[in-house]
Parts: sequence; structure tokens; C-alpha cells
Amino acid sequence: MNKLQNELLNDIDDRQEELIELVKKLVRFQTPSPPARNTKEAQDFMAEQLMNLGADVDQWEVYPGDPNVVGTFKGTNPNKHKSLIVNGHIDVAEVDEEEQGWNTDPFTPSVKNDRLYGRGTADMKAGLAGALFVIKLLKEKGIELPGDLIFQSVVGEEVGEAGTLECCERGYTADGAVVVDTSDLHIQGQGGVITGWVTVKSPKTYHDAVRRDMVHAGGGLHAASAIEKMVKMIEGLKELEQYWAVTKSFPGFPAGMNTINPAVIEGGRHAAFVADECKLWITVHFYPDENHDDIAKEVEDHLLKVADGDPWLRDHPPIFTWGGKSMIEDKGEIFPSLALDEEGQIVQTLKSAHTNVLKTGPQVSMSPTVTDGGWLGNAGIPTIIYGPGDLHNAHGINESVSIPQLIDFTKVMMTFIYEWCHEKRKDDKDEI
Ligand SMILES: [Zn+2]
Repeated sequence: MNKLQNELLNDIDDRQEELIELVKKLVRFQTPSPPARNTKEAQDFMAEQLMNLGADVDQWEVYPGDPNVVGTFKGTNPNKHKSLIVNGHIDVAEVDEEEQGWNTDPFTPSVKNDRLYGRGTADMKAGLAGALFVIKLLKEKGIELPGDLIFQSVVGEEVGEAGTLECCERGYTADGAVVVDTSDLHIQGQGGVITGWVTVKSPKTYHDAVRRDMVHAGGGLHAASAIEKMVKMIEGLKELEQYWAVTKSFPGFPAGMNTINPAVIEGGRHAAFVADECKLWITVHFYPDENHDDIAKEVEDHLLKVADGDPWLRDHPPIFTWGGKSMIEDKGEIFPSLALDEEGQIVQTLKSAHTNVLKTGPQVSMSPTVTDGGWLGNAGIPTIIYGPGDLHNAHGINESVSIPQLIDFTKVMMTFIYEWCHEKRKDDKDEI
């Protein structure tokens, strides 16, 4: 670390009150999701901050009332130096009206015993504020980074909405990305999640009185209740789940985290009819080395084979609908997995920043939950998850973040951003 970097780290200590105020400011914007559609004011604030710091700001609506904000700080020599995406979500977990036990109003932040309390402190407004504060200090010192720095404040993460996916589809890319979501300062990758609907459907609707013709000898009607046939699908899913549990594993995960949860079932129309349709909403977890499309195909292949063993399902196979861009709008979501290349440069640079600042090496682990990091990884960007706050607090009553950890995070990010955006790009022609 050079003298300038040390000065910057001292600035973070000296100005921690300002940093805490920034987190508090973000917590006061009430952005719970669901219900969502409430981030405009917070995102306008983020956009204004980024603009004042000299970024080119791109703001667009993902859903009405929920805009994404991306601020790009052009590097002084971007062709030769590495670019970085810093990504975080502005939405926070919902606060249930029935939820008892908050000692203070969730959106009125407060400090007690070195912890900052309020909804979103751990997940993940402290992370967003810390990263933004780094840029503020760099700019105030007049430091121009050679590589591009792209700051993404996205919406919708809590309900599987496509805030980060839209950033990728809009063309934002970089040589590396860090998602400053809740990781307790571990460097993390993650497994993935995909939701889907399995539908069993009869081409005809029969009155309840016709049931005897379809279930008794000599009835002559080759028909079925969609609800009864769905039982076979559910059993099939359970077999597949067990098969995965005993045959698949991934370092850093407990065995059997690759579950298939039959979460919601809807079927039948009325007691006077044979059920002509049954729909099952499932949630499938998979490992970092697996892809959501392949996993969906594995589930489909298995259930189609189960269906093949049933004379009616053979002729009326189940229908599959996978994923979706919002749990609110589409009743579906995808969080791609994120494998971690421990030898990769971004892990190495963050490790060394963490070690230099905190005098101890960071833990490298797998997040037991999912973040938007999967989308950035899916877009081919070497990505890591690294942020303050722990998962016991995320989404919890009396959510809080440790202030010393927030300061540590901000210092590590300062060092990491500075170092990464000074690293030379491998594809730089002049270097070869
Ligand atoms: Zn989060």
C-alpha cells in the first residue's frame, strides 16, 4: 500500500460518522420488497450522489416506481487497465405488519453498542453506502482511477426481479464484479435457485358423476383426475431429490442442499367436477458447478420418464414453465449459481486487500443463500460476493450491522477498488 492509500484509510476512520449517516439516510428510504415499487426516491438519491461525484448516470425503470441506477466513472486509461462493477440492491426484505419484536421503528435507524439497527442495514444498505463512500473519498482526494468503475444500484433482488439481469442485458460488463451483499466479509460464491411450474392437464373437463366410468372396470373412459396424477409427479420429484442428495455434492456445502421443494399446489375447480388441471410450484436448489437450464432439463427428463410409466400421463405429459423475472409479476425467479475461481485474479486481489487492511486472511466460502452475483457470473464476468453484515441479521427482527465491520469493509473496498482499477488488462495488446 502506498502513502496515498494509507491516507485514504485514515480518512475512513476520521470520517466514520459521515459514513454512518449515509447508511442511516439509505435506511430511512422505505424500500421493502414485497410490496416493492417504492425505490424511486432512494434511487434518485443514489443517482444524484453518483452524478455529483462525476459519474455518467443511467437510470431506467425496471418496473414502475423501481428504477435501476448505474453510474459509470470513466477511467483515465481504460484500454490498458481493468474495469470493475460494484453491484448492490437498494430494496430490502419486507416488514410484516404482524411482525412483533422490533425495539425501534425498522425505518428509523439507531445506534447501540457499536451496531447500527434498521431494516436493510445488514442486507444490504451498509454495503452500498460503504462502496459509495469509497468513491466519494477517492473523488475528494482528486484520485482518478485508470480503469473504469461502474456502480450499479439495482432493484428487485428480494423478490427475484431482474434488476441486475437488466444491467447485463443493457450491455454493462467489466473485467470483474463484486456484489457487496451480506457475506460477513467472507469472499463467496453461491449455489443457484430456479423456480418452476409443473402442470398436469386433462384435455376435457368431466362432471363428478362421470368418475365411475373412468375408475371402474368396464367404464370405458380413459380419463383421469389431474390431482391424482400430480401425486405421481410429486413422488417422482422426491425420488430425484433423494438421488441428487446421495450422488451430488460440492465443497463448502452441506450434503443435500440441492433440494426440490413442492412449495405450492393448485388444482381442481369445484367439488362437482373431476379435477381437470393441477399445477405445482417448485423451488429447486443446485450447486455452483451446475447451470439452471441443465437443472430444469434434468427435472423435466425425470418427470417425463415417470409419466411414461403411466398410461394416462404417457398421453398427457406434464407441461413445464421455468423461471420468470419476478416473484411478484411472473410467480417465478432464477438466481444463477456462482462458481468461485479461487486462483482467479479477482479473488487474489480482494484477498490481498483484505489481508493488508485487516492483518488476517479472509475466509473463502459458499453463501448459503443467493444473491445477484449469479447474474454477473452468468454474463461471463469474474464475480465475487463480499459485503458487511451476516445472514442471522438479514431479513431478521432488529436487523443490524456491526459498525466496526462496516468500517473494515469500507477500508478493504477502498484498497481493492484502487488496486483492481490499477491492474493491467491481460488482453492489452501493448503488453504482449
Ligand atoms: Zn441481499
